[in-house]
Amino acid sequence: MDNNTRKLLNLTDDSLIFNENWLSREARDNRSVNMITGRLVNNDRQCKQCGFYQSVKNGTYQTISQLPEVERRPTYLKLQRERYLCRNCGSTFSASTSLVDDYCQISKQLKYQIAFDLKENRSRKEIAQFHSVSENTVQRVLFSFTNNHQPNFNFLPTALCLDEFSSTSDCHTGMSFICADVTSKKIIDILPDRRLHKLVSYFMKYSRKARLQVRFLVMDMNASYGQLLKTVFPNAKIVTDRFHIIQHINRSFNALRIKEMNQLKRHNQEEGKQYRRLKRYWKILLKDNSELNYKHFYYRPLFKRNMSSTELVDELLSYSSLLKKAYHFIQELKYAYKTNDYVLFLELCSKISVELPKYFRDKFKIFGKFSQGVINAFKYSYSNGFLEGINNKIKVIKRVAYGYRNFLLFKRRIFLIQNQVFQVK
Ligand SMILES: [Zn+2]
Repeated sequence: MDNNTRKLLNLTDDSLIFNENWLSREARDNRSVNMITGRLVNNDRQCKQCGFYQSVKNGTYQTISQLPEVERRPTYLKLQRERYLCRNCGSTFSASTSLVDDYCQISKQLKYQIAFDLKENRSRKEIAQFHSVSENTVQRVLFSFTNNHQPNFNFLPTALCLDEFSSTSDCHTGMSFICADVTSKKIIDILPDRRLHKLVSYFMKYSRKARLQVRFLVMDMNASYGQLLKTVFPNAKIVTDRFHIIQHINRSFNALRIKEMNQLKRHNQEEGKQYRRLKRYWKILLKDNSELNYKHFYYRPLFKRNMSSTELVDELLSYSSLLKKAYHFIQELKYAYKTNDYVLFLELCSKISVELPKYFRDKFKIFGKFSQGVINAFKYSYSNGFLEGINNKIKVIKRVAYGYRNFLLFKRRIFLIQNQVFQVK
């Protein structure tokens, strides 16, 4: 085998020796495969037990390891490995190569390729078929690449964000817990159970110094991790996630819009039109009204004429006085949000007009209830928006893998996807 071929096949290890007829085609599991045959010899022959150099040959044995496919054909490396006997201590050892881990049936290169595919949203079965390996092998690769994740119990970041996601079926509570470093956007850990007493006992494993390091806990308003403050993170302040504040405002407004919309009689010609328009142009109502365009006129099919964005909004709001009131209310809130005016924001929430329906008003009580978190959200620009991104990826993996049943495997895959597996501590 010449050097270029070696490079091409990633078989550059000097301990490998190939003669002229190194390639043959063989049948294996009803498929035609490439079989590369060679010898493995150790040049230095140093004893692994005692370090003595003068060992003698002591027979050979054969191993077959799987390499990455070549031209969509499974490829194997058949090696005649030399065995040595140490003259000094009497132990035997055999020639090894960096290409294949000892006692492993697949080459490192193939492992890397499988690990790479595991980072994508592909199911284990699909990956196994693609590389002509078993699903168990894919699982073993997942294990071998991720087995080192142990949180460092002596370190926690200044800003820690906490969230939860619906989990695998072997978790009792159905909801799992994820925490990450807001600044570096790295996952710190994923726990199967989000219940408070589990979290307390988990975080108590961290050193006191590490826990005192945490100054900000970023979380959304559904979370009840506030109680972690007293016992676990005495120096921390709660910061409500900014992303979640806006999301809550938008969702509340949308709920009101849909209720108003559903009161229109769809069979009536005029109200039917209004219904369809409110249904179609919901996004424009959520936009900041300072950002609406009043200069450019676009054709609006549901109106059969050209309209600017501001005109469109005015028209939509004219269909319902409640919608109009709610619209102006959320626009004021968004203005307060944008200008970081938490006094105005909380005042608007507490003085919400009684003309608005109760279910709508109630949704804004939550900001008063979490006022300290909201104030901090305005003061400090921490957000766990990136965690939302991770959570979306988690959902996708779960869907592709048809529901991971095993939490630990699931956790490992998440770490792999987030590129957090080669961390050396
Ligand atoms: Zn020895």
